[in-house]
Amino acid sequence: MDRILLAAPRGFCAGVAYAIEIVDLALKVHGAPLYVRHAIVHNEWVVKNFESQGVIFVEDIDDIPAGSTVVYSAHGVSPEVRRQSAERGLKIVDATCPLVTKVHNEAKHYAAKGYFMIYIGHRGHVEAEGTMGEAPDRMVLVETPQDAEELEIPHYEKLAVLSQTTLSVDEVMATMAVLVRRFPHLQKPPKGDICYATTNRQMAIRELAKECDLVLVVGSTTSSNSNRLREVAEQYGAEAHLLMSTDEILPSWRDSYKTVGISSGASTPEVLVQDVIGSLLNGRTGIPVEILETVKEDVAFKPNRDLLELAQAAR
Ligand code: SF4
Repeated sequence: MDRILLAAPRGFCAGVAYAIEIVDLALKVHGAPLYVRHAIVHNEWVVKNFESQGVIFVEDIDDIPAGSTVVYSAHGVSPEVRRQSAERGLKIVDATCPLVTKVHNEAKHYAAKGYFMIYIGHRGHVEAEGTMGEAPDRMVLVETPQDAEELEIPHYEKLAVLSQTTLSVDEVMATMAVLVRRFPHLQKPPKGDICYATTNRQMAIRELAKECDLVLVVGSTTSSNSNRLREVAEQYGAEAHLLMSTDEILPSWRDSYKTVGISSGASTPEVLVQDVIGSLLNGRTGIPVEILETVKEDVAFKPNRDLLELAQAAR
């Protein structure tokens, strides 16, 4: 290995930093046990860290004792989950990423105007379930350009398209092209739904892949955007692997490649990237670690003032 090249931007996006800060604040205000519906972000390290502080992650609202506090994860929830929470008398702290909420609002807007919607997303992904839950009778899911080609729906005068925030930019463009050809009157939200962090990390890894023979993406197999990063690196010519920890590093990765590129998913703490760098170097000095920056990011979301003030008072 002659050098390590780090993608920039990589790692935590504004929505993940926001969700983690909200759980920290909610722990201060409400104490443990604190319930979180679904993994707060798709990273086992983050989840375990919170579990050690008394956070309990549940998939089903029925598993939360009545009257407790529940935090909704960054991926958002459907109105049905909100209804179940109200039925159990739960106190809600909402850590949904504002960029996911934006897509929910588009779904509500189109539903109210009588549109039928096509949602580009991954079946079974918690974000897709939450957004589609805004108008379950007025939305159909497609995953791939092939699905878009084969989609059979009645003729709707009012037809709109939405997407999950963490998909492959290239694949969504391909799926969108099929949909627009088949349904030329399709309405699109003014700005695309793939978020800035997904777009930027994919752009960065494209450039990285062009310069590397091996690209490692540090992230969880449950993380949609991390999986997409690995795929994009592969599409742009590099051998690419997704790994969560140094245990998964193969000895050949240290010796059989000239330039090793590293990126990380939007839910991956930087400490895990630094561990991987350390393990790749394995005590060797003189191997440069360089940064390939494609774009600067300055997006940040602030938790609401009430929660900040309550946390301050609870110190
Ligand atoms: S990946 Fe995008 S939509 Fe998802 S939490 Fe991060 S900023 Fe929000």
